[in-house]
Amino acid sequence: MKRVIFVTGSDTGVGKTVVTTMLTQHLCALGHRVAALKPLCSGGREDAVALHAALGGALSLDEINPWHFYAPLAPALAARKEHRRVLPAEVLAQVRQAQARFDAVLVEGAGGLLSPLGVGFNARILIARLRATPVVVCPNRLGAVNQVLLVLAALPLAAARRAQIVLVTQKHSDASARSNAALLAEHLGRERVHRLPWLCNAAQTALARRVVAGLLRRIQAG
Ligand SMILES: [Mg+2]
Repeated sequence: MKRVIFVTGSDTGVGKTVVTTMLTQHLCALGHRVAALKPLCSGGREDAVALHAALGGALSLDEINPWHFYAPLAPALAARKEHRRVLPAEVLAQVRQAQARFDAVLVEGAGGLLSPLGVGFNARILIARLRATPVVVCPNRLGAVNQVLLVLAALPLAAARRAQIVLVTQKHSDASARSNAALLAEHLGRERVHRLPWLCNAAQTALARRVVAGLLRRIQAG
């Protein structure tokens, strides 16, 4: 069975959905049968809607996102407010069913790596149990190197070694944005660090597609 690609991040709102959506579109364009899952949503359900659109109807919204909670809080807490609970085994079963049906399975976490998702689990635990390849998304700004290295330190060693890093260009770049990728590459190797441009026009979008294609090649090579 193909390895699951698990898109996680240094924080919430850093671009996980953009990266998951672009990976999904790229895999679909290559002719793969793709599942893109957002098992847990809290607050809005926009991320699942974006994946649904990228998949072009291959999965229903409820298949992509079986658990959604209304409070804009970490999913574990949002669920508790509705007197509901999600067990890790339920999420693992959703992902494994998709693995059995599709050539490629992408999973987007909710929040950052250690954000509580349900009863006693977070993205770290799902990545470990699925032996997934993590894609760590982080805004390319001052502090990014520390944040990426913290996420990698928090991952199981085997997962950290497979992890690919995506630095997302910010609308207003700071001076560190030009050197973060190179500094991370000193620790991790150049081939594992990918810089996604700010998606503001067609040229940048085309460049982003090439970056995502390169990211996918690295994932598949690992
Ligand atoms: Mg998202």
